[in-house]
Amino acid sequence: MIPEGSAQCPCCDYFTLRDRGSHEVCPVCYWEDDGNGLEALDEVSPLNHITLRAARMNFERLGASDQAAVSLVASPEERDGLRREQRATFF
Ligand SMILES: [Zn+2]
Repeated sequence: MIPEGSAQCPCCDYFTLRDRGSHEVCPVCYWEDDGNGLEALDEVSPLNHITLRAARMNFERLGASDQAAVSLVASPEERDGLRREQRATFF
């Protein structure tokens, strides 16, 4: 089981982070938190090398923020029950 954090991951919307902007890597999607949120969807993240918008689309399609992280992320069972408040950023 993944421990629940008090802060929401900007990529997968699960509550996996202890706080924001501390370079924590989300265990659900493998986005490294650079402190930016949905207000900066189209800025290329210096830590993740892609935009948050692209990472969020990757998560919806692949279950990971990036193709390279697909084998590293938590399984659906491991993230089962974890708090998530999904935010829509594309349609
Ligand atoms: Zn995440």
